[in-house]
Amino acid sequence: MNSLLKDYNSQDTIAAIATFPGAAALGVVKISGKRALAIASKIFQPKIKKDITQLKTFTMHYGDIVERGQPVDEVILSVMRAPKSYTCEDVVEISSHGGVVMSDKILSLVLQAGARLANPGEFTYRAFINGRLSLAQAKAVGDIAEAKSQSALQAAIKQLKGGYASRLEQLKNSLKELFAQSEANLNFPEEDIVFCPKKFSRAIDVLVRNLACLQDGALHARIIKEGLRCVIAGKANAGKSTLFNCLLQEERVIVSHIAGTTRDVVEETIVIGGIPLKIFDTAGIISSSDLLTRKAVARSRDTIVAADIILFVVDGNKPLGQDGRELINMISDKPVITVVNKSDLKQNIKTDCLPGKVVYVSALTGEGIKDLEKAVRAMAYKKAPARQDILFLSHYQMIRLNETMMYLREACGFLRTGDSLDMVNASLKSALDSFGKLTGEIDCEEVLADIFGKFCIGK
Ligand code: GDP
Repeated sequence: MNSLLKDYNSQDTIAAIATFPGAAALGVVKISGKRALAIASKIFQPKIKKDITQLKTFTMHYGDIVERGQPVDEVILSVMRAPKSYTCEDVVEISSHGGVVMSDKILSLVLQAGARLANPGEFTYRAFINGRLSLAQAKAVGDIAEAKSQSALQAAIKQLKGGYASRLEQLKNSLKELFAQSEANLNFPEEDIVFCPKKFSRAIDVLVRNLACLQDGALHARIIKEGLRCVIAGKANAGKSTLFNCLLQEERVIVSHIAGTTRDVVEETIVIGGIPLKIFDTAGIISSSDLLTRKAVARSRDTIVAADIILFVVDGNKPLGQDGRELINMISDKPVITVVNKSDLKQNIKTDCLPGKVVYVSALTGEGIKDLEKAVRAMAYKKAPARQDILFLSHYQMIRLNETMMYLREACGFLRTGDSLDMVNASLKSALDSFGKLTGEIDCEEVLADIFGKFCIGK
């Protein structure tokens, strides 16, 4: 089980470094719990003498962190008292001069003074337990911490503000209403409640369509958060690694003219037009008897299968050849941009059989790279058009959503084939259970472990 759920004890006061480790102007140590102020009073000496345990909420205080009477650093102490704080508990934040060493030092003093080190995501978990955040909002906090692009960040913030919680609530109410109707019919047949199976199955259909919209929004959220999988594929020596580096504008992959040197699948993220593209540079697809190379080629094929967009790189200086044509067959059902590379050399390739949009570049000189970026952006937007109803769901929640829809379709099927209302009712109940797990109403440890387990420690 997730340590977060196992260790949770509302009596504990927890602490962690809330800022990103590394060189920064400020570091923040966050303390939350009943003893937050008492703990702060042991290590903080205000410039103007006052009783720390009596500090008012939403106030800031200037002073020193002290260790055995000696000042360690000048800090600002912020106080947010329960229940109006992030966790709904007493919260103290100590902002110190940046650097990992200083934040670590202060955290260790806080721990010595009686706090327990927070588990990853525990602050947000407490906010959820104390009713301050819905499960969807808690998920959004994790997504903000992880967001790779501006649009992902905006969507996560919107979700945090709670707009989606009410949308989920609406859908859950519709589902409850349907279940209540079938229950009523089942349990009180003598009441003569008018029940029209056709009408009822139409109502279920509407709900399924609304859930399908939710699912689309969640798939879109995956794209803007995690990025489109953009794979660079092509024969060995076509210039894939050079192109990859050119797009990343950094030397990260070994470029060499011995065929098949890029043995692995390398992954990097670049943001184009607000959409993160995960770029995979695949090992050249060559036939080989070398075990290591064969493994790399197999991995390339897997990467291509999972790709959203393929940049198919060919060497413009050389004819395509049989293996080139085989590669085209392999990628034929994917959105492809063909990159005819080495435009600085004499062109010997026939371009009439090349798939998708064709762009001419020289990865070596950078010529044509802007055109390529434009083509990638156009394709990425086609795959991920801007939309408003983005909702972040965890993998677990996606499964629950699918399950809910499956049970609802099952209920419709029973209604159409004239099966007993008992069966319809059982399917609706299962749908409700699944959806309950998604929205967090049913306190299921699995969902919580999945969501909170992914947090960084200070959230
Ligand atoms: P990969 O096997 O497809 O990853 O190919 P590499 O990126 O390792 O490139 C193979 C060879 O082609 C290297 O010697 C590169 O310097 C060269 N190369 C790559 N792109 C260009 C280009 O645009 N023009 C020229 N003239 N050479 C290139």
